[in-house]
Amino acid sequence: MTAPSTSSSPVPRRIVVLAGGVGGARYLLGVREYAREVGAEVTAIVNTGDDATMHGLRVCPDLDSVMYHLGGAHDDERGWGQVGETWTVGHELREYGAGPTWFSLGDKDIATHLVRTQMLDAGYRLTDVTEALCTRWAPGVRLLPMSDQRVETHVVCTVPGSERAGAIHFQEWWVRYRAGVPTSGFVQIGLEQARPTPEVLEALGGADLVLIAPSNPVVSIGTILGLPALREALRATPAPVIGTAGLIGGAPLRGMADVCLGVIGVEPTALAVGRNYGARSTGGVLDGWLVAPGDGGPIDGVLVEEAPLLMTDPATTAAMVRAAVDVAGRTR
Ligand code: GDP
Ligand code: CA
Repeated sequence: MTAPSTSSSPVPRRIVVLAGGVGGARYLLGVREYAREVGAEVTAIVNTGDDATMHGLRVCPDLDSVMYHLGGAHDDERGWGQVGETWTVGHELREYGAGPTWFSLGDKDIATHLVRTQMLDAGYRLTDVTEALCTRWAPGVRLLPMSDQRVETHVVCTVPGSERAGAIHFQEWWVRYRAGVPTSGFVQIGLEQARPTPEVLEALGGADLVLIAPSNPVVSIGTILGLPALREALRATPAPVIGTAGLIGGAPLRGMADVCLGVIGVEPTALAVGRNYGARSTGGVLDGWLVAPGDGGPIDGVLVEEAPLLMTDPATTAAMVRAAVDVAGRTR
């Protein structure tokens, strides 16, 4: 007879999570809940490839999604930005004909970007700026941008009105064109040269569990893993690395991860994404891979387990995290 598997899993003390925006944020709400139960500390390494400069302001969509969610200020109905937002400045900008008109910035959001831009201009690192912004939001999780150097995801595509393919910023492709234009690839400008911060490398080196959030595997997690030194650190960490699928039954739960996967030639299934991440023992990044019931199958060198993966609320999501801890215990 085998003992209940959870009892054999050592309780992690230092959890590191790789995360994108809203999917990452919802996952982190569950990780934080689990961590409070067991007394662990959590560090999130967040994608910065979606960052852009709009109206002279530095906008970090994924960091802000995570910060607002964990700070209890996220607008669940709209799906992004802060609750109770107003739109006076955006309206005034449009009256001046100041673009880009396809990107809305709320007044509260603008305050965040003003503080960030001012601090960056004064020479602070994005890591320090993020820490300063978090003083207000008290997220209960340490938020680290993956890098302090600029990395920007651009998309090679043909946009309405032009005959030839060109590259546009990921935000324009996602927000303005809803990923609905002929697309041939993603180019992460600056990624090859960018370095993860010392804080990121230290967190990965000192972790006893690394979780990969069910974030977009291409433009959120794919970008983080594309930082050469970060990938190396992840492959070298003594901690088990456990990923959770963001696709259930062959479809993403929200967003357009399936379109992004199509662009890089990966089938939009949990199993294909797990195989694309690959096993640490074969040059990839995973030790374990959590998929929804019915989505399982073999991945060479990876322990694949099934569990309910709907992030309905923090308590349900904490159960997902417990399942990942359980998988981690069995990869040792
Ligand atoms: P973004 O940067 O705001 O687009 O967010 P992320 O990249 O962090 O996450 C987007 C991913 O989260 C999508 O691919 C979704 O399928 C996934 N996702 C959203 N809600 C859920 C959920 O309830 N369960 C799971 N497993 N994945 C989810
Ligand atoms: Ca994002």
